[in-house]
Amino acid sequence: EAVLALDGIEKGYNRGKPSEVIVLRGASIAVARGEVVALVAPSGAGKSTLLHIAGLLDTADGGRVAHGGRDMGGLSDRARTEARRADVGFIYQFHHLLPEFSALENIVLPQLANGVSASVAEARARDLLARVGVAGRAAHRPAQLSGGEQQRVAFCRALANQPKLLLADEPTGNLDPATSDQVFGALMDLVRETGLSALIATHNLDLAAQMDRVVRLDQGRIVGL
Ligand code: ADP
Ligand code: ADP
Repeated sequence: EAVLALDGIEKGYNRGKPSEVIVLRGASIAVARGEVVALVAPSGAGKSTLLHIAGLLDTADGGRVAHGGRDMGGLSDRARTEARRADVGFIYQFHHLLPEFSALENIVLPQLANGVSASVAEARARDLLARVGVAGRAAHRPAQLSGGEQQRVAFCRALANQPKLLLADEPTGNLDPATSDQVFGALMDLVRETGLSALIATHNLDLAAQMDRVVRLDQGRIVGL
């Protein structure tokens, strides 16, 4: 069963107004368990819109979203939020870490909010930090970390609650090319080790080639490369 299935997704903004823009025109994709899929498209093609719909942060105008075979249509707002928290980890181009908390705390807090005990949350956070090579930065605040280190910590936070699906929007897009390659490698190692399924948007074809499958967003539909 697909961890994520998008079927015929339609999405536009400002419908019926002069500023109307139709972004998705029947976009379909299935991500299998353990599969890592690259989503390649020029900027403005609708990658963020698609990822937000897949991750239940936004609703489609038409089509079907399923997580693990369960239809996400018709859920209450509360049930959608619960499904999102249980199913999905997000990573963005910018880290969005809480500035007043340490790296460790940024990974612990979402777990406490999810009912995990403090000791288990801290052990898991330290393990994740070690896996991405920043164990020595646990006590640092985001502003005390390099851009690459900030993104590594953001990866740990996204995986803190053991989501089934990782959705990433240009996860190393704000880093210089050499750092981007290293940090992306750390992300891929982490994803492979945890057996996570992922849909990762990137402009970088070298990075895309490291994934199991590459798809393209073209004229509002998903096509093979
Ligand atoms: P990408 O992530 O591929 O750059 P987006 O999904 O952010 O693309 O945006 C796709 C298109 O939809 C763009 O033309 C963008 O300007 C437009 N768009 C995105 N969000 C909104 C919004 N909230 N209101 C109006 N237009 C939007
Ligand atoms: P929490 O469970 O910590 O309260 P939420 O359920 O609000 O978090 O959000 C889950 C994930 O979705 C977080 O990674 C958060 O950064 C992201 N997120 C929440 N709302 C938005 C939004 N409007 N746009 C982009 N990302 C969002």
